[in-house]
Order: sequence, then structure tokens, then C-alpha cells
Amino acid sequence: IKIKVTEIDCPVAVSSAFEGERVRKDTMFAEFGGNKTECWELVTTGDLAEMEDHKITVVGPDIDDAMFEGKGVVRLPMGVVVKVAGKQMQKDFETVLERRIHYFTNYIEGAMHVGQRNIAWIRLTKEAFEKGFRLKHIGEVLYAKMRSDFDKVVDKCEVTIYTNAEDVKRLGEEMVKPIYAERDERMGALTDESVDEFYTCLLCQSFAPSHVCIVTPERLGLCGAVSWLDAKATKELDPMGPNQPVVKGAAIDERLGVWDSVNEAVATNSQGAVEKVTLYSILEDPMTSCGCFECICGIMPEANGVIIVNREFGDVSPVGMTFGELASMTGGGVQTPGFMGHGRFLIGSKKFMSAEGGLPRIVWMPKELKDDVADRLNKAVFEMTGIENFADMVCDETIANDSEAVLEFLESKGHPALAMDPIM
Ligand code: SF4
Ligand code: ZN
Repeated sequence: IKIKVTEIDCPVAVSSAFEGERVRKDTMFAEFGGNKTECWELVTTGDLAEMEDHKITVVGPDIDDAMFEGKGVVRLPMGVVVKVAGKQMQKDFETVLERRIHYFTNYIEGAMHVGQRNIAWIRLTKEAFEKGFRLKHIGEVLYAKMRSDFDKVVDKCEVTIYTNAEDVKRLGEEMVKPIYAERDERMGALTDESVDEFYTCLLCQSFAPSHVCIVTPERLGLCGAVSWLDAKATKELDPMGPNQPVVKGAAIDERLGVWDSVNEAVATNSQGAVEKVTLYSILEDPMTSCGCFECICGIMPEANGVIIVNREFGDVSPVGMTFGELASMTGGGVQTPGFMGHGRFLIGSKKFMSAEGGLPRIVWMPKELKDDVADRLNKAVFEMTGIENFADMVCDETIANDSEAVLEFLESKGHPALAMDPIM
């Protein structure tokens, strides 16, 4: 018997109408993640027989804990584990459900959710707190939405929210990271050439109406949360949903990554706002960017290469702009040749702006991002060029931030971009 969940036990409203709501510093009561504390989220499959439906647990201090009284903004680490089970549940669906945590949390009046996986970032307003909103209500909302939106596959759902620094760190290392790595590995084995279909993603049209992501095995959605496997699973879960197959057919231009089928899908789904995109170029008809890209890459002409800035990096990049400044000219569903939003995982893909020379063009990245992607980046660049430890040739903010010093560093390392064809 399926129990339909309609009522949500939550003191504030829950509706997609609140999706675009931002929580600014002056109205903020509590914050999780966002570079200040660790914050991750995970959907995993449990044992249907052993699980207790609607079990919501908060392990660690809540936002009304006495230790926060009179101390200003409440900052806690957070780990969210949503365990689901059902006869029709498949492991491939986990990442699809996991991405919905972002949307469901944003539905809460007075909550803002950015990012995913272990770079999630949540803010809650003072108003929500005053109305009685506590962490268990995040669990209630996730529970209710998982049960109602995925009733085909979720028969039981438990939510556990950890806020003890020790738990969040330990589980993050021991349980969560290996699961992320396993998923990435599965995805890494697929190439664009090895499949017959790409997928559209229209999930972000609620706030960027002309934006269409084309998701391929070697190019995940720019939010970093929708891989080709996820798109494929979503289509199975929700046949009329946001991910529809684009039967590739023959490429018009393999170097740039141009397909008639892709252009058609983009034109139709953007209501004609965008008529053509390339999948492998940032200069010629690059894909549009919505607003939730994990990174932005942009051309640094004097270095004959590109820099990449991730959302978490707060300083000015060597092209003279911060992430926010770059985002304001790149986002909103418009094409901005020379700049492009993308997922972290694209750094390590041989299709990353391959029309302009690809990964060896990367000349600068924030150190945290560089360390995060180094293994995959090094492996891919080695296979492409024979260069070992490429990440060591890429400058970061701890080495240099201004154009001249970056160039000096690149020269001292013999960075390959300096010897490549002029990028523009
Ligand atoms: Fe989908 Fe792209 Fe939005 Fe990610 S950024 S949810 S892939 S439309
Ligand atoms: Zn988006």
C-alpha cells in the first residue's frame, strides 16, 4: 500500500514560489557550508525491511542551542543523509534524488540552498527561526517531497541531519567521499562517441527561461549535479520531465561539437532565444549559462590560455574580476563568447573547450579547486600531451594573482599554453 504524503510538518510555507529567494547577510540567522563550515548531502538506498518510514533525526546541536544565544549568526557544519528504499528503487536514481535536495530546500520560505554534494551551502532567515523553523523541519520537507515527487520508487524515507563537526568530518571522509568517487568513476568510463543520445536539462528554466543544458557523457551539466547517467535515470523516473534525449545523429563539425539535433533541441527549448550551440568551444556559440554553475572559465589573452574560478573563491582573479563579477556577465541564459559556466568535473574532461586546445590551456585556478581536480586533470593532460603533473604548471592565488606575475610563473614552468596557437 502506498501512503500519499501531502501535509508537511513545517512552520513556514513550502512552495516552488520561494525557489529564487536569496538570504542576505542582514536577514540571515544561520549558515551551513559556504566555505565557513563543512556541508555535504547524500541520498543512499537502504533496506526496505529494516527502515522506519518518516524517521527524522538530528544528531548534534540545533540552531536554538543555548550556546548560540547572543552570538550573532549561527554557524554549524552539516551532513544530510536521506535514506530511501522501495521495490522500484535503483541505485542509478540516487543522484537524481540527491540533486532534488537543492530544489526542495529552496522551496522552504526563508531558506536558501546553493551547490550540491560536499560543497552545499544553506542559509536560514531570522524570520523562519522566529516562526519556529528548526533543523528537523529540513528533514520533514525532504521526507515529504521525496515521498510525494518520487512515489513511484520511494516507499520509505529516513532523514538524518548531522551537525557535530566530528561526525560531519568522519562520515564525510569515510562514507560520503567514496560514494562520490565511485559515481565519478562510472561516469569517467563513458565518452561522447560511445553513446547515441545526449540529454537536455531544463531544470533551471524556472529562473533562466532561455537556458538549456546539453548533457553528454564527457560534459556534465554546469551545476555539476547532472551527469549523463543522471539525465538518463531522470528520463526513466519521470518520462515527461526535464531531461529528454537528443538523438545525436552525425556531427556537422566534430571539432567544435556541432550537431543539427542539438541545435534543434536548444532552439525549441529556449523558445528560439538561442539557435545554435557548440559543445566543445568557448569562443564559437558556447553553451549558455544559467546561474548555478560551479565554475567559470574565461580567456586570459596575454597568457594565451584560460583561467577558471570556482564559486567558493572570493578574491579577484587574474582577469581582474571576482567570481561574482564574472557570473554577472556570464549567467542568465545568454551566450558570452570567451566565458563559460561549467561543472568542476569538466576539468579533467578531454572535451573541455577542446576546439581551442582543451585542458592544456588552463593557466590559473584557485588552489582549492586545483587540488580537488588535480588527479583527473593530470591523467587527462598526460594522455593528451605526454606532459606529467600538469597541475603543477597551473598557477594559483598562493603563487600569483596579477597578470604579470602569473605570466612569469607560466614561463618558469614552460606551460604548454604559451607555445600553442593564438587563442583569439
Ligand atoms: Fe540542469 Fe543545467 Fe540546471 Fe544543472 S545547471 S540543473 S544540468 S539545467
Ligand atoms: Zn542552473
